Amino acid sequence: MIIFKRITNIQKWLQTARSGKAAVGFVPTMGALHEGHLSLLQQSKKQADISIVSIFINPAQFDNKADLEKYPSTVAKDIKLLEENGCDILFLPSESEIYPDEKSKRKHYDLGNLETVLEGKFRPGHFQGVCLVVERLLTIITPDVLFLGRKDFQQCLVIKRLISLMKYETDVIICPIAREQSGLAMSSRNQRLNEDEREIAAELFKALKEIKENRDHSQFSILKKNAIKKLELKGFKIDYLELAKEKDLQTVSELIPGQKLVILIAAFLQNVRLIDNIILSEY
Ligand code: AMP
Repeated sequence: MIIFKRITNIQKWLQTARSGKAAVGFVPTMGALHEGHLSLLQQSKKQADISIVSIFINPAQFDNKADLEKYPSTVAKDIKLLEENGCDILFLPSESEIYPDEKSKRKHYDLGNLETVLEGKFRPGHFQGVCLVVERLLTIITPDVLFLGRKDFQQCLVIKRLISLMKYETDVIICPIAREQSGLAMSSRNQRLNEDEREIAAELFKALKEIKENRDHSQFSILKKNAIKKLELKGFKIDYLELAKEKDLQTVSELIPGQKLVILIAAFLQNVRLIDNIILSEY
């Protein structure tokens, strides 16, 4: 695996590598890698000739300074994992490489409804920050295929919209959510939970599954109320638990026959914010 920290160096390398018409797959991450990230890399290895992973903790997407400060960083371990998993290139830029000046941080993207619902509502400015870094990374790497995790459902829609706004030709592949045996969606933030808390954190997915399993027997509004009550008793503080249309995340209050819907949740356990989702059409 080759590690590049400078834009000029990775671009020079890519120019030569590309002359053979190799397809480039790209997996952007914030590091503290786990099986979820590695499953994206595996998918890239299957579909592309060259697989690039980036690690960059993007300050622009943190609406909360304390969250940024507490975000785990395990670069040495990440490098080892990427090497063991056959990653070709690691792009590990510094903040000044990504944001060389103030002007590079002053952009605005028209994200429509995606900016104001769910994550957008609870983390103002978050998706603008995501777009800022993703646009920058896509401009540097110009991948043929971008691999994203469905764990961040809304982020996938935001990035697809960014790609269409920018008229990029990158294909987007959405990969399934990698979970612990308990059902807990893997996340770098899970590292901040102790063993007992991790066990409790798995209740989040159990609640989503329970709603899905009972959706034909009860109204969503009732299932939602019961789930929130149960989760709060276990110590969660719920930001939202919503039913929404898969295509644009417009929230709906009840199931709509024939519509593809997804249930999304965000909740704090202690001071760790967890998100998860479940697609209703999928068993
Ligand atoms: P992050 O490092 O959290 O910014 O995530 C980098 C990429 O990995 C994003 O596309 C995430 O959606 C994806 N990802 C994170 N956790 C998981 C997971 N449990 N399963 C699948 N993909 C994931």
